[in-house]
Amino acid sequence: MLIEGLRIANERNEVLKTKILNDINNGDKRPNATIILVGNNPASEVYVNSKIKASSKVGIESNLIRLDSNITDIELENTINALNRDNNVDGILLQLPLPKHLNEKKFINLIDVKKDIDGFTLINQGNLFQGEPCVNAATPQGIINLLEAYNIDVKGLNAVVIGRSQIVGLPIAKMLLDRHATVTVCHSRTKDLSLFTKSADLIIVAVGIPKLLKEDMVKEGVIVIDVGINRVDGKLIGDVDFETVSLKAKFITPVPKGVGPMTINALLENTYKVSKNK
Ligand code: NAP
Repeated sequence: MLIEGLRIANERNEVLKTKILNDINNGDKRPNATIILVGNNPASEVYVNSKIKASSKVGIESNLIRLDSNITDIELENTINALNRDNNVDGILLQLPLPKHLNEKKFINLIDVKKDIDGFTLINQGNLFQGEPCVNAATPQGIINLLEAYNIDVKGLNAVVIGRSQIVGLPIAKMLLDRHATVTVCHSRTKDLSLFTKSADLIIVAVGIPKLLKEDMVKEGVIVIDVGINRVDGKLIGDVDFETVSLKAKFITPVPKGVGPMTINALLENTYKVSKNK
């Protein structure tokens, strides 16, 4: 069965839009987020545009601060600090990657945790790993929302997460553990990926290699969530060989229209959440 991320994201966006409209009718201020874009990385431009477009559809105001790729540490620091101090700013998103001369971790952690809509700060990630309330990173939260929308209970499942990034692999592994899955995390040094994927009930692939997961690596009835976004010959494809793996899978997400729209939806929900937590 195809997991329709786009449809579920649209449904959740409609619910959010109604909530925001009701709040505004009751005298609340419109939630807002400021995106900081340093330089002009083409992929970042695309992501930022889609975030701005999606925000306006649900009634979230977004502001874009564009900074030159040669910006100094102190200038970026001042920009973030000014947004932290501004009581009219609900959420702050620092679009990654930053140009090489800027230390991403340092700048992410300058963002006031109460405004961290990406959930990337040490405090939000630490809270996730200590089981405390937090703003979760949008992609893993979007995956959990997708599994829940299809009533997929991960309790007791053998889950294999391929990829161990701070923004997808590690947080989704923890969120699956919290829901009582038995989780194995694979990465570039895993000796025999198939050994793990063949016995998996649920596979989350977040690597960035087109068609890494093939049909002979999975068992019948597997659930597959494809996070990968790869541009090949002008087309977007995932990390899963969809044509063949889908023949064996009980549930599978497509690329595009799978995890991507759920990520954006989770980001919008995070913005709404921080705007209420003040
Ligand atoms: P990342 O930071 O580059 O991490 C990639 C991970 O894949 C690393 O942990 C790496 O292992 C592992 N890996 C590399 N080659 C491998 C191999 N041959 N076998 C097994 N594991 C391997 O990437 P990311 O930011 O997590 O993103 C992953 C993919 O998801 C990208 O295509 C990205 O564009 C996409 N993405 C999509 C969304 C969405 O909303 N749909 C959101 C975020 C990212 P090591 O740790 O050993 O290097």
